[in-house]
Amino acid sequence: MIYLDNNATTPLDKSIKEALYNTDFWGNASSMYSKGREAFAAVEDARHYVATLLGADDDEIIFTSGASESNNTVFNLPFNGRIITTAIEHPSIKECVAYHRSQGKNITVIGADKNGMAKLSELEDALKEGNVSLVSVMSANNESGAIQPFAKASELAHKYGALFHTDATQAIGKVKINVKKNNIDYLSFSGHKIYGPKGVGVLYVKKNSPFRPFINGGHQENGKRAGTYNVNSIYGLGLAVKILLDEKSDNDRLWDLREKLRKGILNLIPDVRVNSPKGKKDCLPGTLNVSFPRAEGESILLFLDNEGICVSTGSACATGSLEPSYVLLSQGVPIEDAHGSIRFSIGRYNSESDIDKVLEVLPPIIKKLRSWSTR
Ligand code: PMP
Repeated sequence: MIYLDNNATTPLDKSIKEALYNTDFWGNASSMYSKGREAFAAVEDARHYVATLLGADDDEIIFTSGASESNNTVFNLPFNGRIITTAIEHPSIKECVAYHRSQGKNITVIGADKNGMAKLSELEDALKEGNVSLVSVMSANNESGAIQPFAKASELAHKYGALFHTDATQAIGKVKINVKKNNIDYLSFSGHKIYGPKGVGVLYVKKNSPFRPFINGGHQENGKRAGTYNVNSIYGLGLAVKILLDEKSDNDRLWDLREKLRKGILNLIPDVRVNSPKGKKDCLPGTLNVSFPRAEGESILLFLDNEGICVSTGSACATGSLEPSYVLLSQGVPIEDAHGSIRFSIGRYNSESDIDKVLEVLPPIIKKLRSWSTR
């Protein structure tokens, strides 16, 4: 199998799989006897690794069930003023916006430019209208790979007296983010996009920022998130972060593979539209989103699956819906092209031979599908 869907999820790092197999922190991390203290120590070690990665203090890190919960927690805070966010956020934010609007709350959603970047001019215009409590701009987009101008957005938010949240789920490990330097008040991410376990994530909350728990009923996480600690998963997430701290970045290698794929596709297949930003500093290194007009994305996906290659159309969260991607539409991709889009996301375990295989099997698939569509 050739797995090129690392933005949807990543396989567990092999060393983490082994560590999880060999450890069992079954004690309740809130218990005072040694089995509980052992589990608590594993949680606190993980917290320290995460804090180190983000440039935060340990007590600013809350473990959650994933970025969706972290995002919902932030959007559930009792802000009096307006919220501003973008049209390209993950559904876990988009749906919160829809809910708030249904409750009569004033929320402004800013657009994206043709490179998939949130429009800062629209952000500033919306901020100038006043009474904004929170600005939320993701750090990098899951579908296009566009690295967002989150540092500038944070600067603008604070200039107008608002707090700043970023969904860093896709950026962690690939884009340098320091919550202190970038003046971030809230940040979300998940373990399973960085080769850690699923069902565990992080919410960073800057000290003294407005906060109320989203899940109530226990003193865990310093009273900020109730529920028995998911110790093994938190331990695994900590190990995934430790790998990011200890090992050399994989970004250059991922970018070279992505460029090999992009150039190969453009050379071998006519009439292709690249929906990801061109420049290395603007795009997640392993992400390439491409449209093949006159070929349906789902058909391409299934034909590639038949060859043992896993990719996605739109994002995994939208799978099951045949609606074209709202992210691509909001950056101006025509609806027919959005229907024929495929996201390749390259990761730690991919090699050049994987890209060679895609370049061998993809051109005839597109040719065949296009011949059917003109019949
Ligand atoms: N935000 C972004 C940008 C994501 O890509 C994802 C995962 N697709 C999430 C949030 C949600 O993460 P999880 O499903 O782990 O809660």
